[in-house]
Amino acid sequence: MKHFSEQLWADFVRGVGAVKMNRDIEAHIASGCPDCATAVGMWKKVCSIAAHEPSITPPDDAVRMVKLEFATRQSLQPGPWTIARLLFDSLSQPLTAGVRSGASDSRQLMFEAEGTMVDLVLDTRPQSGTICLVGQVVDKGGTRVAPRQVAVILWTETGQPLAETAANEFGEFQLEFAAQERLRLSVEIAGYKHIRIPPLNLNSAGTRSVT
Ligand SMILES: [Zn+2]
Repeated sequence: MKHFSEQLWADFVRGVGAVKMNRDIEAHIASGCPDCATAVGMWKKVCSIAAHEPSITPPDDAVRMVKLEFATRQSLQPGPWTIARLLFDSLSQPLTAGVRSGASDSRQLMFEAEGTMVDLVLDTRPQSGTICLVGQVVDKGGTRVAPRQVAVILWTETGQPLAETAANEFGEFQLEFAAQERLRLSVEIAGYKHIRIPPLNLNSAGTRSVT
């Protein structure tokens, strides 16, 4: 049997609420009602847990880091995006792989996403420790996407933009960046869904000629 509402108990244990009501509750507990003795014990526990909450709150620094991380993740791809589909990878072609064991160390890739084709040629330059990326963005029919604005952005694993460039009037672009294991690239065409190139493992393309 409930003698006082939850709201009254919550006010009572925190020492707030109407003075008269609190006195009534005290008098009632003093009269030895077992139900209310249990209730007040439970509510006092709740009150003490709530009072200790600051000690189980993460430090401000940690909160800031997490917020920053989320903000970065969000800015990585504002708006709708789609994952591109790999159509061609010269690395998976036995014949080309044979050719590659020679002097050439370039890798050609072709992606498709919602009627847009993204061609990429990756050239590893062991001497400078860089990778040169040349690409072109075209409509599936072969017509050029430009002069619509095309931005090509290279991301780190943690979602930080590493390099950015804009395609020219033929949808062509070029990026040069420090050699790394994984490549995360996105193509943003104004007014279209952003295209994410699935993360590419560059290790196999890059290190072989170095060793
Ligand atoms: Zn009672």
